[in-house]
Amino acid sequence: MASERNEFVTDVLVVGSGAAGAMAAIKAAVHGAKVLVATKGPYPSGNSSIAGFGFGAPFGHADSRDNPQIFFEDAVQAGQGLCNEKLVKIYTSKIIELTKEMDSWGIDLIKENGKFSQIPWQATLIPVW
Ligand SMILES: Cc1cc2nc3c(=O)[nH]c(=O)nc-3n(C[C@H](O)[C@H](O)[C@H](O)COP(=O)(O)OP(=O)(O)OC[C@H]3O[C@@H](n4cnc5c(N)ncnc54)[C@H](O)[C@@H]3O)c2cc1C
Repeated sequence: MASERNEFVTDVLVVGSGAAGAMAAIKAAVHGAKVLVATKGPYPSGNSSIAGFGFGAPFGHADSRDNPQIFFEDAVQAGQGLCNEKLVKIYTSKIIELTKEMDSWGIDLIKENGKFSQIPWQATLIPVW
């Protein structure tokens, strides 16, 4: 039995419509690319649509001692040997800037008294709230 086939032409194909896919799509579009998002869930979907306990970004809003290096060390320790440290380094050093950028787009990010909502995490991966 012949199956139906659709063809699409695009400059950039983004797979997935969570936060990472949405950011990739928006950034490519802002630079003038024609963008197509292919996803198996609704838009938005994935973990991004169910996260809700604060930002994994070292703003120092919950604890003024927090910074990208401490966040990196916490993440690697909590990952118990499973993390790709190169990727964790990129994430922990870029995430503040990226969160501010998403905020500037008008996304309804959770805030308390004008500061990003943050929950201290312990090495056991159990959030303290
Ligand atoms: C319960 C929960 C709570 C969390 N709380 C927090 C929090 O408080 N703070 C925090 O910083 N982080 C939190 N996280 C982690 C955070 O949500 C994720 O790291 C982040 O959302 C990942 O974004 P992503 O875009 O990479 O992936 P996702 O948001 O998971 O998006 C993946 C996308 O890919 C699509 N997809 C999957 N497979 C295919 C396929 N085969 N073909 C096409 N599309 C596909 C999905 O439909 C989805 O659109 C939480 C995660 C969970 C599960």
